[in-house]
Amino acid sequence: MLDIPRIFTITESEHRIHNPYTAEKLATLGAVLRLKPETRVLDLGSGSGEMLCTWARDHAITGTGIDMSPLFCQQADQRARELGVGGRVRFIHADAAGYVANEKVDLAACIGATWIGGGAAGTIELLSRSLCPGGMILVGEPYWLRLPPTEDIARNSDASAIADFHTLPELVASFGKLGYDVVEMVLADQEGWDRYEAAKWLTMRRWLEANPNDGFAAEIRNQLTIQPARYVTYTREYLGWGVFALMAR
Ligand code: SAH
Repeated sequence: MLDIPRIFTITESEHRIHNPYTAEKLATLGAVLRLKPETRVLDLGSGSGEMLCTWARDHAITGTGIDMSPLFCQQADQRARELGVGGRVRFIHADAAGYVANEKVDLAACIGATWIGGGAAGTIELLSRSLCPGGMILVGEPYWLRLPPTEDIARNSDASAIADFHTLPELVASFGKLGYDVVEMVLADQEGWDRYEAAKWLTMRRWLEANPNDGFAAEIRNQLTIQPARYVTYTREYLGWGVFALMAR
């Protein structure tokens, strides 16, 4: 069955939001976009569906989410039922690479999964193919809060190299170069990073207690041992993250 690497479904099995965003930030984003009832939303890499489900509840949007994780899709369906929005949102278990909606949408999003389109530029192009004229695109991307002084620090901050990410000014300018106006943004903060990263630690600890003989146990043990100190030294200090709302010029 089509799936993502197991490390994510273990460490993020308890996450509702698989990004350094809190429920409050997601609510702020929904509010600042001034979403109208019946706005049609497409979400590539929809995870456990928190954005579509809460915006369906709070703003009466309708939405489709595409995600490659069977577990996250199942959690998204369950969340939709919990919030009573099962009739407004649907989640499709599929690879979102190359996915174009049959019926055009008003808002096309990819929040923290822009490898789906081979990077931010490719993902914006992909999303634009599902968008009705005048529609809006949302991308969630990391950026350097502080430029790492060494490649080693970049590698410890969830990057493979300094060149992986822009600074915030470079990132915002890059959207302009692609021909888009940046019309809104809601940036994550350290509390959001803590909720995303620190939540993994308790999940890993509990998983280890329940699965001591699993073939993955040594890897999870290693992660739990090193991640807290690594995270507070590097990612938390160097990496920013935000969602940017774009409209074609
Ligand atoms: N946007 C969600 C999830 C972000 S995490 C949120 O903010 O909570 C990245 C998500 O991308 C994961 O749910 C993962 O399962 C999904 N994913 C990774 N590769 C994918 C692909 N090729 N197609 C669809 N989903 C993918």
